[in-house]
Amino acid sequence: MPKSWLITGCSSGLGAAIAEEALARGDRVALTARDTEKLTRIAARYPSTTLSLHLDVTVPGSVAAAIATAEQAFGQLDVFVNNAGYGVIGAVEEVSPEEYRQMFETNVFGLIEATRLALPALRRSHGTFVNMSSGSGIATRAGFGLYSSTKFAVEAISEALALEVRPLGVRVVIVEPGAFRTDFLGRSMTIAATRLPIYDETAGGMRTLSESMSGSQPGDPVRAAKVIVAAVDDEAAPLRLPLGPDAHRNIKAKLDWVSADMAAWGDRTAATSFEQLEVKT
Ligand code: NAP
Repeated sequence: MPKSWLITGCSSGLGAAIAEEALARGDRVALTARDTEKLTRIAARYPSTTLSLHLDVTVPGSVAAAIATAEQAFGQLDVFVNNAGYGVIGAVEEVSPEEYRQMFETNVFGLIEATRLALPALRRSHGTFVNMSSGSGIATRAGFGLYSSTKFAVEAISEALALEVRPLGVRVVIVEPGAFRTDFLGRSMTIAATRLPIYDETAGGMRTLSESMSGSQPGDPVRAAKVIVAAVDDEAAPLRLPLGPDAHRNIKAKLDWVSADMAAWGDRTAATSFEQLEVKT
């Protein structure tokens, strides 16, 4: 049975690739963007199976309108992809409140509100949420902490959501891409306006890396989209999809680091209950 999708942020990159993969196999997709002109390349190729809708995740009214239009036009909404997002690079001390608050409005608060608004439709269809986190949603590095903190939040929201909605017949898939060749390190990556030389050796490395890597990232968005669509189809797919060898490597290193910290002081840090009672969680 063909599925009906709504994808936030389809103007380029992973959102556009997921839309194309779903459309190529006969699904219907509500393509959404802040500027619907940017959707014409895909919409023109699939005029009878696409809707082109205005959607800005920081404007809940636009999200609600897009969901209502898509559900009414398609009869139901099976897959909701929380994809829209962007990054800010800079040390924690360098990124200003205006810069990190706006990023949270898009990557976190926008995703929460879109999820809340889409839940009734997905409960009706027993559908699937695809939430775009990042390899940096598990493992961060100097200069990427504030962007990563938005994706750590996406991880927590998605993990809890999965536990809450599974008994209601709704699935959640968390996507954790490494570096993929999209517009992400170009127009979707902001460098903090403040630059403090004391961070050149740490956060500065991330600035240099992102500039040098833009356009030559190893990850292929088309291959990513194929894995994501396959996971939507497969009820037995895992909750998390780390995409690319870099994501696998970095997440494994983070898990090892956490395990090593727990082992290093485990006898002391676990022994903090009253009268040494076992903690029941
Ligand atoms: P991209 O090509 O730059 O796409 C980002 C998309 O987000 C664009 O369509 C952009 O639309 C949209 N967007 C930004 N703010 C929005 C808002 N307020 N409302 C609606 N749409 C908005 O980059 P991408 O790599 O495909 O990024 C997609 C997702 O993957 C993001 O959440 C990103 O954090 C995540 N990710 C990417 C990578 C990577 O290496 N590429 C790695 C890990 C995670 P406009 O055209 O209107 O700007």
